[in-house]
Amino acid sequence: MSHSDSVTSCFTEHFQSQPQFLATAPGRVEVIGNHTDYNQGPVIGAAIDKGVSVALRRIDERAFRFASSDFPFVETNDSSSKQNGDDAWANYPLGVYNALIRRGLQQSGGFEIAVKSDVPSGAGLSSSAALELASAKAFCAAYELELSDKELAIACREAENEFVGVPCGILDQGVSAFGKTGHLVHIDCREIEFSTIPLGSEYSIWIFNTHQKHSLVESMYATRHEECFEAVKQLESLGLDISYLADITPQQFEAHKDRLSPNVRKRAEHVVCEIERVKQVCALLAEGKVSEVGGLLFDSHESSRTLFENSIEELDYLVSILKSMPEVIGARLTGGGFGGAAMALAGEAFTQSYAQSVASAYRGRFGEEPDVLHCQVSEGARLLSIS
Ligand code: ADP
Ligand code: MG
Repeated sequence: MSHSDSVTSCFTEHFQSQPQFLATAPGRVEVIGNHTDYNQGPVIGAAIDKGVSVALRRIDERAFRFASSDFPFVETNDSSSKQNGDDAWANYPLGVYNALIRRGLQQSGGFEIAVKSDVPSGAGLSSSAALELASAKAFCAAYELELSDKELAIACREAENEFVGVPCGILDQGVSAFGKTGHLVHIDCREIEFSTIPLGSEYSIWIFNTHQKHSLVESMYATRHEECFEAVKQLESLGLDISYLADITPQQFEAHKDRLSPNVRKRAEHVVCEIERVKQVCALLAEGKVSEVGGLLFDSHESSRTLFENSIEELDYLVSILKSMPEVIGARLTGGGFGGAAMALAGEAFTQSYAQSVASAYRGRFGEEPDVLHCQVSEGARLLSIS
């Protein structure tokens, strides 16, 4: 069943009527740019061919109804209040609705919305941003609001940060909004600027999800965040005029790093060099040298392992096997780390049977197989036509 058929049947099942608008938005993979976003550096992601679709109908009654094939039904007549507990998933579309009201959406009556997803949950593929962007596209069409994709990405991030209460960067929403088939999405997190980089449709991304998650993952992120800002403070006290780690070149960093406290030095070195790696990936892709970016992906992982210390043994193992396979261009942990998934970039020579051999080797070592997901690099958020 197509995205539009399955979300339409989800809608009709719950609301016994036809939707007026359909939209879909993809999940995403962080390709390179690890913990660079809040340091105001660049990051590169890829939109994938797994996404969240929504179906929407405006109604005269002041009622807001939310149906999902995976979450409980929610109804409210107060669109400005947050939902709690099992109903909290509705905060994603509701938060987007509120963010769009601040950008000129004229409210009247209410709406019914149905949600259908094929983004596996818990794989760090950003189903939340996909839900936000699909909702945003549908609301804009339904309320005749014209906003650019940049404004939509920013509105959706605002919804997630402020209404849902998750302090994410702009990567998830930016990639979901700007994805393009066969292209990567580059985000300059300082200027909040988005661009696409041709990759080639013969390349795809493989995700190996370990399902491991450090029990203290939230506080680990917070500590890394603080260490990066502590590095800026220490570098400032050494006379450098910087506000973020993105303000310093690897050469400047090299000249001052010995005077930083040990952990702070390691975290900052990871970020400063990762920013440089993202720039190098851009330069190589501009020349069409896709196979040469692999070394930078492996370097990124090595830096996570030894400097940022946000890898885990399971991810290190996956990356080391992937690195030994000539069919793989590059691999690294993807996302925040301390668990989660590894990604591999590969051409057509890497097939499902190679992926299975990676999964089997992993099982031999850790007793369980990782989930393997093969993703094509796909299109960003868009309206779907009603059939
Ligand atoms: P990720 O974005 O990495 O997938 P998050 O925790 O940020 O993980 O977002 C997951 C949340 O997004 C879910 O707990 C739920 O609230 C919402 N969500 C995702 N998919 C759906 C869906 N199909 N229907 C309703 N809500 C969804
Ligand atoms: Mg998310």
